[in-house]
Amino acid sequence: MQVLVLNSGSSSIKFQVFNMPEENILCSGHIERIGFEDAKFTFKASSHKLETVTSILNHNQGLILLSKQLLDKETGVINSPNDIEIVGHRVVHGGQYFKSTTEITPEVKAKIEELSTLAPLHNPHNLEGINVAETIFPQAKQIAVFDTAFHQSIPEVAYKYAIPNSLLKKDNIRLYGFHGTSHKYVSEKAIEYLNNPKSKIITIHLGNGCSMTAIKDGKSIDHSLGFAPMNGLIMGTRSGDIDPSIIFHLVNSLGYSLDDIYTMLQKESGMLGLTGYNDLRDIEAEAGKGNEKCQLALKMNAYRIKKYIGSYTAILNGLDAIVFTAGIGENSDTIRRLTCKDLDYLGISLNLDKNTERSVNIREIQDDTSKVKILVIPTNEELEIAKQAMSLIKN
Ligand code: ADP
Repeated sequence: MQVLVLNSGSSSIKFQVFNMPEENILCSGHIERIGFEDAKFTFKASSHKLETVTSILNHNQGLILLSKQLLDKETGVINSPNDIEIVGHRVVHGGQYFKSTTEITPEVKAKIEELSTLAPLHNPHNLEGINVAETIFPQAKQIAVFDTAFHQSIPEVAYKYAIPNSLLKKDNIRLYGFHGTSHKYVSEKAIEYLNNPKSKIITIHLGNGCSMTAIKDGKSIDHSLGFAPMNGLIMGTRSGDIDPSIIFHLVNSLGYSLDDIYTMLQKESGMLGLTGYNDLRDIEAEAGKGNEKCQLALKMNAYRIKKYIGSYTAILNGLDAIVFTAGIGENSDTIRRLTCKDLDYLGISLNLDKNTERSVNIREIQDDTSKVKILVIPTNEELEIAKQAMSLIKN
């Protein structure tokens, strides 16, 4: 069975086609800068690699280009659009409605649209991808896999905010959590690796967006992102935790509009706001050359992760493993080193040599003395989406 996985963002679409249940990748790639004359289309199939810069003005044009490549005789991925039996879509916010993977119907689409107010940067584009995929692959089952679903196990004591009760009851204001597909995937890998379903684990997903999850008995019990994907850790362009009174000061004393603040906190803060760069590779290179702002930002980033490790160890009442994943978590030995420094009281002790080794497999990077395992596990959100979508159809 061939499953197409789509992750549609505001100006990008990431895609993979899997042969399931074998989990073979038939092709993968992405389209960047959708909406521009110089959009970039990257497509990889076994012996075929294509990189073109072309005008792709909307998601429809992007997916038409993708389907042409899939059908191209040279790539040999599919012979007809009907060969794609399932399209699995990443949908960021499932709100109070979706506790698990769901087949897409007009009612489901209406709910995803309604939830756009909670994730305006994500849900509208996820929906756009769904609408276009329905026209290009009309025979396929369209399945939504929600980033929030894995966190539905978080107990009330953790998901409730200490604001008037009516805001939760009537207006559904609560912690939802995000990056659930990644946290689920790597925590299951960790549990399998540790061979203990009862393991107490902290998963640390550090990409452009960053988040941490406390996991007990395979379930999410607390998470660093909340009502929307803004709080918690310092991210590429998002501030993470700040005191809400700063917002009132910006409005009342400095004349900011709410739109200004939203843009500032989402797009101009985090590592970008601190350093002028949002790609961690640039920040590390600058720090290496003596740029003090970059050096401090790396320390601040790791300090915030460390605070969450402390609090999650407390709520888990112990710790068996921490897991680093995603672009930064898998690749930045600097962030891992700064994070794990001076955590020996919690039984976390990094091996500096193992930390700098490279591998695409699961690896342990702690010292022999460390009570807690420090794991680096490559995430694979696309495969997780394909697996969940297929298991929904099979059952
Ligand atoms: P997304 O959230 O878009 O899926 P990724 O998981 O791909 O993001 O992570 C993107 C981040 O990973 C970027 O900040 C990038 O700088 C960082 N990154 C990728 N490779 C490296 C590396 N070798 N060293 C340090 N950071 C890296």
